[in-house]
Amino acid sequence: MSAIKHKIVVLSGKGGVGKSTVSANLAMSLAAKGFSVGLLDADIHGPSVPTLFNLVGQTATQTNDAINPVTANGIKLMSAGFMIAHPDQAIIVRGPAKNGILEQMLGQVNWGRLDYLIIDCPPGTGDEPLSVCQLINSPDGGVVVTTPQEIAAADVRKSIQFCRKLNLPILGILENMSGFVCPKCGEEVHLFGKDGGRKTAEKFNEAFLGRIPIDPAIGLCGDEGRSFLEHHGESATAVAFEKAVEQI
Ligand code: ADP
Repeated sequence: MSAIKHKIVVLSGKGGVGKSTVSANLAMSLAAKGFSVGLLDADIHGPSVPTLFNLVGQTATQTNDAINPVTANGIKLMSAGFMIAHPDQAIIVRGPAKNGILEQMLGQVNWGRLDYLIIDCPPGTGDEPLSVCQLINSPDGGVVVTTPQEIAAADVRKSIQFCRKLNLPILGILENMSGFVCPKCGEEVHLFGKDGGRKTAEKFNEAFLGRIPIDPAIGLCGDEGRSFLEHHGESATAVAFEKAVEQI
């Protein structure tokens, strides 16, 4: 990992808030700017990267003792999903074995020289995110993803405490799925409430990276392995996302 200049961890207090979507789009945004980028999917039980890059069924090759990342959209990718024979196979491990897989994915991958490694951390504040954050050598910091409603914001408060306890600098809080503009009438609907991420950032004196509106195209692009930012660059969601990346 010594040949990696910047390591950014993407965290969330709970699953389903768009952490993996943000990780993948952050990696694609940096790659489009000309940086060499890697993306590590550290969620052993629910790997998303193979799906988000339309690579389900691909397996990683090995050279001597090291695993070669799978490259797509100019990004080097590693995921537990590339280490199983069949995409529907579950990785059923606990404790030490899980740490072994994480150590392998962090320390024995031929990343080569990278400007950025984005680490998509498992959700929550339990064993797995703890192991991931402790195994990464001098990370630059974490981006905390949340949705706007209070229940998610409550979990973000835990993520903030988690980062502070681990001395992981918080690069900012990103409010995802924040409003949806009706394509027919143009009215903005706040499906999941409003401002929970911003208010939490203010309360804890952390940087607020902005609101990312809901855009159905983000999921469709993920399903097809296409870059949302490249194909829908004019959309409010892509513009908000790029603004957030500039602040990281
Ligand atoms: P997590 O990693 O937090 O579990 P995901 O990144 O897998 O969450 O996102 C959960 C679902 O929400 C996916 O289907 C994804 O396509 C969708 N999604 C995430 N962010 C947005 C958004 N801004 N607009 C529309 N759909 C989104």
